[in-house]
Order: sequence, then C-alpha cells, then structure tokens
Amino acid sequence: MLQAAAMTLNDHLSHTLSDPFYILQYADDTLFFSTAKGQAPRTLLLVLQNFSEVSGMKINLAKSSFVPFNLSTQLVSTLQGLLGCSSTTLPIQYLGLPLTDRRPDKATYQLLIDKLTNRLSGWKAKLLSRAGRVVLASSVLSTIPIFFMSVFKLPAWVIRSIDRIRRDFIWKGAVHPAKGVHLLSWDRVCLPKNLGGFGLINLTLHNLSLLLRWWWRIHDNPTSQWGTITRILYGNSERSTPPLTWKQSGSFFRKDLRRLRPFFQISVSTRVCNGEGTLFWYDNWANMILQHFGNDHSVQHKHITLKEALPILGQLLPSPLNYNESLIASVAQQLQLSQGNDKHLWNWRTDGKYSAASVYRKLISAGKHVFAFKNVWKLRVPPSVHIFLVLLAHGRILTQDQLLKRNIPFHPKCVMCDLQITESRVHLFCECTFAMNVWARLQVSHATLDSLLFSVCSPNNAGRGVIATALWGLWLERNGRTFRSEHRSLDAIIQWIVQQASLFEKFC
Ligand SMILES: [Zn+2]
Repeated sequence: MLQAAAMTLNDHLSHTLSDPFYILQYADDTLFFSTAKGQAPRTLLLVLQNFSEVSGMKINLAKSSFVPFNLSTQLVSTLQGLLGCSSTTLPIQYLGLPLTDRRPDKATYQLLIDKLTNRLSGWKAKLLSRAGRVVLASSVLSTIPIFFMSVFKLPAWVIRSIDRIRRDFIWKGAVHPAKGVHLLSWDRVCLPKNLGGFGLINLTLHNLSLLLRWWWRIHDNPTSQWGTITRILYGNSERSTPPLTWKQSGSFFRKDLRRLRPFFQISVSTRVCNGEGTLFWYDNWANMILQHFGNDHSVQHKHITLKEALPILGQLLPSPLNYNESLIASVAQQLQLSQGNDKHLWNWRTDGKYSAASVYRKLISAGKHVFAFKNVWKLRVPPSVHIFLVLLAHGRILTQDQLLKRNIPFHPKCVMCDLQITESRVHLFCECTFAMNVWARLQVSHATLDSLLFSVCSPNNAGRGVIATALWGLWLERNGRTFRSEHRSLDAIIQWIVQQASLFEKFC
C-alpha cells in the first residue's frame, strides 16, 4: 500500500514540479529528494498532509528531518519553519548504515567495534569450551560486520581490531585478557575447514568479495537504477560509458571500487553475440584480458565496443603488434557476431551468476593445497574433538616441546611412561610405551602420527572414530596426570575409549 501511495505521490509531484523528484522507501524509512526552489517545498508539504489525511497515518515531524545542500542559512531557517522539522547534516543513519558523502570516520567504525565487544560481555566465555567459542566467534562475531562490509571497505585498523577481539575470545575466552596461548596462527584459523582452518571468515577477503557485487550489478544490469546513477556520477559525460572505463576522480566509494577492478576483470568473462555490450579493450571476451585496460594512454578509441572495433582492427592495433595484440587480432578476425545481447558471466559459478561465497572461496584457497581436513570435521565426535584433531595435525597442542618454544617453564618428563624427556606429540601419541600399548590393544598396527591422522581423515576407514577417540583419550589422560595427578590404568582407558567411541557414533 505504501509503495502504491508513494508512486501516486511521486506522479503528482512530477506533474506539479519542473524538477525531478525521487523517493527512496524501505521498511519504515522514507527519503525524499527534492529541490528547494520555488514551490517545491510547499508542494511536498501539501502532498504529505493530503496523504496523511487520506491514509490516516500521522507523519511524525519530531522524528523527521531534512538535509540541506548548498542552501543559504536564511533559506534553511525558512524551510524549518515551513516543514516543521529540524535540519541536520550528513552523515545520517539509513537502514543501520551511515549515509554519508565522505569516508566514515573513526567514531563510526568504533561503534561497530564496540558492538562486538558489548555482545561478548553478555557471554560467560570462560565457561564455554573452545569449540563453543569457535562456533560463537564464527556465527556471531564474524557476521556482525558483514552488513557494513557489503557497502564500505573496512580500514586495516578496523579489521585488526575485530580480529583481535575474535582471536582473544577463541584462545583466551575474554576481551583483552591477561594471558592465554594462541595455538594456531590467525591466518590458519581463518582458513575454511577443508583447508585445515576453523572456518572463520577472513574479513579482508570477505569484504572484497562482498564489494564486488557492486561491480557485478552494474555489469549485469546496466540499465538498473544503480547502473544509471553510477554512469551519471562516475562515467564519461559524453556517452554512456561502461563502468570499466570510469574516470579517475570521484567519491571515496568509487575510489574503493576502482581498486577492485582487477579482481572483477578476472572474475568475469563475456559471451559475445552482437558485440554491442562488449568493450574491445577492457572486457574479457576472448578468454583473456588485454593488458592495456585503462592505464595505457596510447590506446586509441578506449571505449570502443567489439562491434565497432572489428571493421577497423587495422587502425586500432598498433604496429608492430605485441604478443597479446596479435593474439587478439587473430581471434577477432575469426569472430562471427550473431543476434542477441552479449552476456557477462561470473567465472566462479557454473550458472555464471555472481555470489560473494564463490569469489571468497577462490581467493582464500588460492595457492593452498586441499588436504583431507574436511573429513576431520565430518567425524562423528563432539566439536571439541574436531578442534583438538585439527590442532594436533598442525602440531599446535601444548606438549612440552611447544612450551619450550614459547619459553614457558616445565619439568621435562613424560607423565605417561615416566621417561625424563621433553614430551612431544610424536612421543605422546606414538613412541611412548603407554601409547604403543593402547594401539596394540585397539589392534592398530604400525601407528605413526601420520598414519593415525591419515586413518582419521579416511572416510572409508570404519575404525576412524575409535582412533580419533583414542587420540583424544590419550590427551585427556595426559592432562589429568599433569594437572590433577589423576591416573587411570591402561584397562580403564581402553574401556573408556571403546565406550565413548560408541556413544559418539550414536549421538554426534
Ligand atoms: Zn612416554
């Protein structure tokens, strides 16, 4: 109904006023964009009053305000009297985000950081297991900034602050705690689970992935409102310029987007039909990107489309041709244009449509080997055991050799076999006589750490749940003996492992 009313209002005003009039309406927020010239403010007020009487809805002037641009103080004062509401300046809040003509200031970002800190203060983090803290850090602390990140490029200091909050929460259970050990580097924690991480979001890459949406929307639907506005504001005024040729100057938002252009260009390829929607120099139309994009000022006809370029290839390409240009020339000469519009396709999804997740996956996994870590997370054991196994695989559980690296004092001894050595994960889980007895009783032969972890990661290994539980059981026993002087016999531990593995299998 509101939308219909808004349309009616818009129609009415458009007929009454000589200048264009715009309404932006979402949820319970309504923005009017109008000139302050002539009868415009009076007409707006009149229409609003009529709308109020007809619909029965009251306009709350105390909650309304107007933002003057380039108006004299006297006119602002007159408008305040006429409209009955106060004037304000940018930034204002709209849909939870600052509506602003300049880069958000430190105070704005600090509000975001404070929001995360406040959320933490309500949680009894010390009482949560590490696995619980990873889930909360991932599901809540990592998602709060997402709305912001979909519009603004977060400054590096903000990302560092948010990461510090998430990091301390996971490893130490509090914000700004006195002590606590970070067992895994933050880069690794932020890897997806199938790459050996805890699956937390890498904020920098996620921010970038989300902002690419703005590029995609202009490219995918250039006649949309967003596409039209960006062309008017940032494009070339002489012709409707495609976004890849945006001029250098502009707002902070445009500058941030412009820096993402290389990522966008490798993410999109063009399926050519009539050649009218493809830029010869900029679009990835022949499974390659011309090196010239935007920066080479010697290129002629920068904004030429593929259709326009084909008949004049000889003039366009310089002589002698370099490798890329000769390749382009040969592809272009064989190219047959056809009916229909050119289509831009997102390279990271089979359906050719943009998604932030697809580009994020591509960026985060670039250059990383896919190990079978993802299978660890599929094991039917509690989340605490998943976390333990990932840390064990990375060599980051706090055995004595790790304490040594961190200059934490300890008395060198294996509490399982009483040998006076500096305990390591290889000793504790494989070479220790106690561990060897455990593996012998469980009928696991030739147990090395690699073979044990390989078994745990092998989906077809029926005994992998028992092996995972045994590793976890050995670790718990070692901690019981170290910190609480609690000793269980080999028989008791074997019985515990078998029972727990069966319970995990049933209930996890
Ligand atoms: Zn030992």
